[in-house]
Amino acid sequence: MNMEKLIELDKKHFIHPTSSIQQQQEQGPKMIVEKGEGIYLTDTNGNVYIDAMSSLWNVNIGHGREELAEVAAEQMKKLAFSSTFSTFSHKPAILLAEKIASLAPEGLNAVFFTSGGSESNDTAIKLVRHYWRIQGKPEKRKIIGLGRAYHGVAAASTSATGIPEFWNMAGKMMVDIYHADNPYGNGKEKAIASLRAVIEREGPETVAAFIAEPIQGAGGVLIPPKEYLQEVRAICDEYGILYIADEVITGFGRTGKWFGIENFGVTPDVISFAKGVTSGYIQLGGVIVSDEIHNVLKEKSKGTLFHGYTYSGHPTATAVGLKNIEIMEKEGLVENSRKMGEVMLEGFKKIKKELDIVGEVRALGLLGAVELVADPETNKRFAPELQVAPKVIEALHQRGVICRAVTYEGTDIICFAPPLIMNEEQVNTMVERLHDAIKEVRESLS
Ligand code: PLP
Repeated sequence: MNMEKLIELDKKHFIHPTSSIQQQQEQGPKMIVEKGEGIYLTDTNGNVYIDAMSSLWNVNIGHGREELAEVAAEQMKKLAFSSTFSTFSHKPAILLAEKIASLAPEGLNAVFFTSGGSESNDTAIKLVRHYWRIQGKPEKRKIIGLGRAYHGVAAASTSATGIPEFWNMAGKMMVDIYHADNPYGNGKEKAIASLRAVIEREGPETVAAFIAEPIQGAGGVLIPPKEYLQEVRAICDEYGILYIADEVITGFGRTGKWFGIENFGVTPDVISFAKGVTSGYIQLGGVIVSDEIHNVLKEKSKGTLFHGYTYSGHPTATAVGLKNIEIMEKEGLVENSRKMGEVMLEGFKKIKKELDIVGEVRALGLLGAVELVADPETNKRFAPELQVAPKVIEALHQRGVICRAVTYEGTDIICFAPPLIMNEEQVNTMVERLHDAIKEVRESLS
């Protein structure tokens, strides 16, 4: 089939997720990807790109790993699918739950599986409400999230998301979810005061849980001060509120630790995960709960737990997850993420010294960002109509690098989350191309 035909069919029949439908109709698909190998993607015209976002922050071990294809094929031939409802079980799900418990922070040892991040956060929110309900506190059901958070697009996860564009599409999906200011742009003190104010306003006896990503990803790779998350943990304890860490991006080595929250010296009560657990080779997500929550469930959750997805603990998906983690361990990819993250950050700092439109640069493991500003001294932003970050993304695209711009609230942020298999030479190539792309856009502005 030729390209024109593919483009025509895409426009006619394919409604793309998180995309502009009008742009698709006017310009066709941005690119049609044919092949993935290591850190590279190749399109149908033979152009090769560095996948500097690991696609959707998820292809942690890189593309084209045959071991995962083989394990999926073997599992499909043996037992492609069977249910885990009504306590039916199978080996891959049991073993992956055990493996994840061994990697998770101490005291979190029981796993509920889903098919992705949105389902994981909806599950986390329903489970914490259930936890309070079965202890005779049904009024304790409110959830507090943060501005600029992204938790997904199912009912509860859309509402917990702190980017209003996602509510405007169809309105908030669930009641009793509120937002406090995040530390980005507000500072730690103001963010802490805002969280306290929301809890006090709503009444702590009605608040079930706080939810946040250790590092906000889609919000623009916003790394909070360590003390902020530690104070949040203390506030949750003070008011008797559970702490949910959304590790959908930060889990499975992305930040140079197995889970992002470990960087902050905080232990949450619940962790939601997805993406990196299978490096995106197959859909899988889940929620890990603390022993305290698990004990309450064991003791007080009477009869059927009326929550489950057909694909909770899918045999093929969990078998792929196990193999993916085995590869990460064997190849030392968590440590590589930490080391290469430092190289990437050094590169960003060098660009900042050389180009006068680079503001804050940051990274933790292979999760990083470069901010573009009109004046780095005062952090003055560019006018949104200049489209500075999208222009840099396009200039990077021309140079064979795929990454992502975040422009909420007038920011111009270029995000990076390359595969954890990156070597030093590849990081340097990516950073050089970033330098050249920013320089080109810088020159076009003056
Ligand atoms: N939580 C975070 C932090 C995410 O970044 C995402 C997706 O990008 C989600 C949840 C939603 O996950 P999914 O798209 O798999 O439903």
